[in-house]
Amino acid sequence: MVIHEPIILGFEGTAHTAGVAVTQGKKIIFNKTATYLPEHGGIHPREASEFLSKNFPILLEQMVYETPFGMKKIDAVAFSQGPGLGPCLRMTATIARAISLLLKKPLIGVNHCIAHVELGRMVTPAYDPMVLYVSGGNTQLIAFLNGRYRILGETLDIAIGNALDTLGRSLGLPHPGGPHIEQEAKNGKNVLPLPYAIKGMSFSFSGVVTAAQKLISKHEVADICYSFQEYTFAALTEATERALSCTKKPSVLLTGGVAANTRLQEMVQGVASEQSTKYYVVPKNLAGDNGAMIALAGVNMYKKNNFISVNHSHVKPRWRTDQVEVNWIH
Ligand code: AMP
Ligand code: MG
Repeated sequence: MVIHEPIILGFEGTAHTAGVAVTQGKKIIFNKTATYLPEHGGIHPREASEFLSKNFPILLEQMVYETPFGMKKIDAVAFSQGPGLGPCLRMTATIARAISLLLKKPLIGVNHCIAHVELGRMVTPAYDPMVLYVSGGNTQLIAFLNGRYRILGETLDIAIGNALDTLGRSLGLPHPGGPHIEQEAKNGKNVLPLPYAIKGMSFSFSGVVTAAQKLISKHEVADICYSFQEYTFAALTEATERALSCTKKPSVLLTGGVAANTRLQEMVQGVASEQSTKYYVVPKNLAGDNGAMIALAGVNMYKKNNFISVNHSHVKPRWRTDQVEVNWIH
């Protein structure tokens, strides 16, 4: 018997990235993004949502031309319902609702953080991993237990990606700063003293940013970047190791935009090996926000009929990872 794997159209739009994707089962058929780059400073929510409104139709048109079946065989429409910036979430939800009504196909509201995890579970062999999810807007240690993804540790202020981008701006590096800090750090030789960002199993990065900003003009940029990475990544890695040691999960999964950082990968791989645990990282091209992660989470949710009506599709800017009932893992 041939089982028809559902074909899901996914929309990502929680902050800076408009993503449209089509997946069938684990197969990514189409996945394109457009990313808003602020002219000055950080992300302006209204400008970002205007960017999404201009780019979703363009990406959708490309999808129609570049996939063999266009809109014709879509089984459901998945979208990032939260957490994220209100104006961006509302824009994305509006488009997803319209397409769902047009195609008369069910709507799936996906939690963005869980989508980063589901993507990792779909594109790597990880099944029940200890997840270190590091991105521009979120930093969480996540593990599945009794029907939900539980948060074992998280940032108490800003996300690690946001911290890297803020420091990058102060150093005059282009946005987003994360990849530029990684390159600069490769030439760093001296570890400068900075605060250690761990609080129990959670993190606090804003004080480390302030301390690093105070080093500017007194020290080499490369040394500041190197030190910042060493201190903040050590905190992330330490909490991951403790979580692995307590839960004995069979693998560790690194996901989210900052997962593209090779120094962080090296450190997390190190603790995985110490704990005799398998190590997986999402591919670099799928680490940052994208539509495929929403569509892939949508595939798992579709199989358990996790649909919402348009009337109940209001956006959830503060939707937490542990508020979602995960009925697709046993
Ligand atoms: P996301 O929010 O998941 O789309 O991830 C975006 C974040 O990933 C931004 O804060 C980027 O600075 C960060 N990022 C991307 N590549 C790297 C890298 N190689 N090293 C550190 N941070 C990175
Ligand atoms: Mg993200």
